[in-house]
Amino acid sequence: MSLTLGAAVARPGEITYGEFDLVEHPLGGSDRLPVILAQGRQDGPTFWLTAGIHGVEHAGIQVIHKLITPELARDLRGTIVAIPALNPAGLRTMQRLAYYHDGDPNRLFPDGKPRKPPDPDKEPPSALELAYVRLFEQIQKTASYYFDLHCAGTGSVSFVFRDRVLYRKDEDEAKNKAEAEALDARLAEMCAAYGHSVVCEFPVERYLDEKLHRSTTSAAINIAHIPALTAELGTGHMPDPNIVRASVTGLRNVLRWADMLPGNPEPITGIKVVDPGFPCRHRGVARVPQSCIVHHLVEPGDVVQVGDPLVEMRDIWGRSAGEGVLRSENEGWVIGRTHGIVFYPTQATVWMAIRDEGAMVAPYPDDYFKE
Ligand SMILES: [Zn+2]
Repeated sequence: MSLTLGAAVARPGEITYGEFDLVEHPLGGSDRLPVILAQGRQDGPTFWLTAGIHGVEHAGIQVIHKLITPELARDLRGTIVAIPALNPAGLRTMQRLAYYHDGDPNRLFPDGKPRKPPDPDKEPPSALELAYVRLFEQIQKTASYYFDLHCAGTGSVSFVFRDRVLYRKDEDEAKNKAEAEALDARLAEMCAAYGHSVVCEFPVERYLDEKLHRSTTSAAINIAHIPALTAELGTGHMPDPNIVRASVTGLRNVLRWADMLPGNPEPITGIKVVDPGFPCRHRGVARVPQSCIVHHLVEPGDVVQVGDPLVEMRDIWGRSAGEGVLRSENEGWVIGRTHGIVFYPTQATVWMAIRDEGAMVAPYPDDYFKE
């Protein structure tokens, strides 16, 4: 069960600590990832658990602190590899992004395409991307499961994002498809074991457009071929203790599902868990046709039917504006409000989980590996 990551070395029955070199600073010093290894006395799977790739999303750090205890290490079969701060620059400055990479750090993981020779007219990968490539090599080498902790909007419901599973249409297409379907079935089980609400990521075309296939968990699923989920733990900058607790419980249940912890699943309490009875994907809705002030008529977690009122539009003096009320065009449930109440035309005012009709398992587009 020898396992090392950076300077951290796992020891059976213990929690050990260390750091993984990330990015060297030009003025000396460096950003390093804090690494926690919790290893049981019995051999078993390796479960990766990370948080803080977006610097304003803090709940996951607390979840890792509360999950990993000496009692857990005592009962554990296998090893947990935890990194509570994937983006130290963002966390230190309380910014979503790292100041040394121009873009979303959660779109930097490998996409499976063959490496191309460098093009002097294109920006080469940033120091952060190169560091995440090194980190992903370790994930690919050691991980049996992966869970990445995030936060969504202020006051939003705790949920997991279920990624789409992609497969290659090469000479092994039938085998690739069968493996993708088996992996997707494992994802469904992992969602059920965690026990929070479930939202599917965008349908495949938009998923690729948004580079979501280069997120931590999509790379784990589609490149490392292991079950992985992204958890969204409500408010980022002011973690809700109920969500933190329910996430710790959910993760312990996932570890049980993975046969890494003994005992029966514990109930998830203290948070809203929404199951409308059909799969849902997310969408920004109730887009205002005119500039206005919005009064929300729904709360996070509310189940919504077509035609239900979502928001009321007023002018700054408080008078009804335009059509007055915007009604839902979809059935589903409310993940959260979008931030603020002051909106320009076309802006979404509610973030909803709506019925998902897209395939969870789909082939890569024909030109994907040629681009
Ligand atoms: Zn995030």
